[in-house]
Amino acid sequence: MKTSKGVKVAVLLGAAALVGASASSWSSPTPTQKPISSPGPTPKIPDRAELERLSAHLAPVDLRVKLDGLSAGDRAALPLIVDAARLMDTLFIRQVWAGNEALLLSLATDATPLGHARLHAFVQNKGPWLRLEGDVPFLPGVGQKPEGGAFYPADTTKDEIAKWLGTLGPAEQVAARGFFTTVRRSPEGRLQAVPYSVEYGPELGRAAGLLRQAAALSSDPSLRAYLEGRAGAFLGNDYRESDRAWMRLDGAIEPTIGPYEVYEDGWFNAKAAFEAFVTIRDDAATRSLAHLGGALQDIEDHLPIAPGLRNPKLGALSPIRVVNSLFGAGDANRGVQTAAFNLPNDDTTTRLTGTKRTLLKNIQEAKFEKILLPIARRVLSPADRQHVSFEAFFTHILMHELMHGLGPHQVTGRPTVSVRAALEDAYSVIEEAKADISGLFALRYLLDHGVLEPALASAIYPTFVATFFRALRFGSTEAHARGVALQLNALLDAGAITERADGTFEVHAAGGTITSAVSALTAELMTLEASGDHAAAVRMVRERTVIRPAIARALQRLSEAKVPVDIEPRFVTAAALGGASSP
Ligand code: ZN
Repeated sequence: MKTSKGVKVAVLLGAAALVGASASSWSSPTPTQKPISSPGPTPKIPDRAELERLSAHLAPVDLRVKLDGLSAGDRAALPLIVDAARLMDTLFIRQVWAGNEALLLSLATDATPLGHARLHAFVQNKGPWLRLEGDVPFLPGVGQKPEGGAFYPADTTKDEIAKWLGTLGPAEQVAARGFFTTVRRSPEGRLQAVPYSVEYGPELGRAAGLLRQAAALSSDPSLRAYLEGRAGAFLGNDYRESDRAWMRLDGAIEPTIGPYEVYEDGWFNAKAAFEAFVTIRDDAATRSLAHLGGALQDIEDHLPIAPGLRNPKLGALSPIRVVNSLFGAGDANRGVQTAAFNLPNDDTTTRLTGTKRTLLKNIQEAKFEKILLPIARRVLSPADRQHVSFEAFFTHILMHELMHGLGPHQVTGRPTVSVRAALEDAYSVIEEAKADISGLFALRYLLDHGVLEPALASAIYPTFVATFFRALRFGSTEAHARGVALQLNALLDAGAITERADGTFEVHAAGGTITSAVSALTAELMTLEASGDHAAAVRMVRERTVIRPAIARALQRLSEAKVPVDIEPRFVTAAALGGASSP
């Protein structure tokens, strides 16, 4: 379906339009929304041709999903769930920057070809900064992307927030550091925590209404429980009960809607960004992977770390779902597309219930065809590139997600302190690198113990090295990309991969070279997490995530060959559904 400009803006600003805000009241930033001043030289703002070239880094892909297996009730509920999901776009762009909504409206009134290119880039990035280019602005006058998003007052600094957090009592700390509060100034100028249910009340109220209507139509009791629970969470700000209902979802429709990931809060990785994945379960693929969940305790018991750091009893529930994406919104549809996720993030809930891993199969297939194969042809040695396989790509992404749940989660000797809290701003990079490299460790372990098809053995390392180059192109500010640079440097230093004379890379599997390098880095990262040593983590991220010349040359070749960096999904099945506010 062709999406017109007006429709896209109306969708992103859906809530503002529905609560009756006139265009004029949004047309200029209020004093509290003034652009963040940018120190240093002013970046060059791209012209139309340059901006279109940069936007083409995300290759358009039409995403279609079969709906013929749905019951009549679920089919009727689906458009309402998608409508609620659209509201997550509105909330997310507001969380990225307080000036975003006003800016989007002004872009929508620009009918020039440059204006159109800018609007397209805004929709891809959910703001005026190019996420794949280190967050450089593509519009004049917007300054730098605010590192702490709009979760904190525009006139504060990270230091001021940290000092304020230090003055709070235990209960106030929990609220102020929580996933589901913003920090705002009271009329007297004091800092205070504001629940999302208040901060984003109008939109969450509307989303709750849509989810309840959908629940009334659905024939699936587990879906009804999640939708009703999530509606209650939007209104009451307590997400735990509905997280548990989400863990128990067991039907054709698998929605994930609400505030989840914390990457957008670059100050503390504390505040959750709104997103939605509306997906349809792939039953056959889900069944074929179910046995891997049962192998997790065995992997944990054999992690290459001190035995005392292993968890003798993992959470009971560890469902794996393979789904196809019908619709994504907010944090789930900006810049690089999510291929899989592991939720919930709340440590208290996950200790009780474990986490669920969701693999977005149609998104992964599109990435493999459009991105990974063209990369492999250009960066791997001829011998290695012929082993790259979708099966290995898909299974490693699953293992990455599973491994987020393994290894130390609490700091040794301080059981109430999570690794996430201790490592703060360094956490995302370290944790992503850990999930990647220990995922490869786990694949090897499962192959050695006959749990996986032996045919995968020759595919896992070459496929993994190709994925390194894929992730490195996500931009230097992205947690996965920085985590990958760290791993690549470690494997180069260990001689597990080497550059050839023609600039391609060769994997050294013989004699266990790469296998031992993978174990060593797994051990190093997990041991660092257990120590909770913030200074060491910051040092590691600063010193070991640099891009070396050989890698930079390979990345340059990929750019020159115009290999896209990622995909830009067009949700054609969702667009054809119809619904209250769908185009
Ligand atoms: Zn991850």
